[in-house]
Amino acid sequence: LRANFSIIQKETGFVNGLITVLHDITEQEKIDLERREFVANVSHELRTPLTTMRSYLEALAEGAWQDEEIAPQFLNVTQTETERMIRLVNDLLQLSKMDSKDYRFNKDWVDFILFFHRIIDRFEMTKNLNVTFERYLPDEAMFVEIDQDKITQVLDNIISNALKYSPEGGTITFHVKENNGFIEISVSDQGLGIPKENLEKIFERFYRVDKARSRQMGGTGLGLAIAKEMISAHGGGVWATSVDGKGTTITFTLPYDSAQEDDWS
Ligand code: ADP
Repeated sequence: LRANFSIIQKETGFVNGLITVLHDITEQEKIDLERREFVANVSHELRTPLTTMRSYLEALAEGAWQDEEIAPQFLNVTQTETERMIRLVNDLLQLSKMDSKDYRFNKDWVDFILFFHRIIDRFEMTKNLNVTFERYLPDEAMFVEIDQDKITQVLDNIISNALKYSPEGGTITFHVKENNGFIEISVSDQGLGIPKENLEKIFERFYRVDKARSRQMGGTGLGLAIAKEMISAHGGGVWATSVDGKGTTITFTLPYDSAQEDDWS
């Protein structure tokens, strides 16, 4: 809401009226503002790796390429930065695809429990994993109608974050339960947690609690924004809870009708 004030004043200097015009910032103005902010963010996110690469390439060109010890390190930096830019551009393409009107989902009926176990298995197979996984998943099947690729991407983002922010030797816990017409899925870690005032913001595009740390870990700041859009498109919701310093839990829901089970037996 914006307010414009006009003071009606006589030549004598006495104020004898005050006109207040209140009007909503139009939807269009809001969209324009968001678009400008988004473009500014994207430019900034791309400029950072590009300027880093430029300085390393300059150093290489100026002679560092001849140093057998330094050259591979510098090339390594440019490679890491390139990979991060590719991830960023892929995430941006993903978001822009989702924004377009004719974005389609490929939904199938799948047993979420089996589907979730497979995703966790894939992470557990990763070598040098120094966290423990604990699963609290129901034994019986729970069928939901989902786009498997999209929900895989959602879980990949959430689980990768849990791993990124887990302390050495920590535990990541997975829960699935039914709750009032929804299936509720949560992933908890024992990492540094998220301050209360930032809990909702982490689902915004480019928002990071600690920008430097996220970039250093190769983050784009778009993972959870993409996850949120995908979950909303499935009719579910997503939120975070956290005990600062003790860990974070990301929970999301998907519509689930337990009566459907009868059709499958
Ligand atoms: P990023 O690429 O930075 O990980 P995300 O959209 O996935 O972007 O997450 C946004 C921000 O939310 C992160 O930068 C981080 O500050 C915070 N965050 C997400 N998951 C966790 C977690 N499990 N523990 C602590 N902070 C987290």
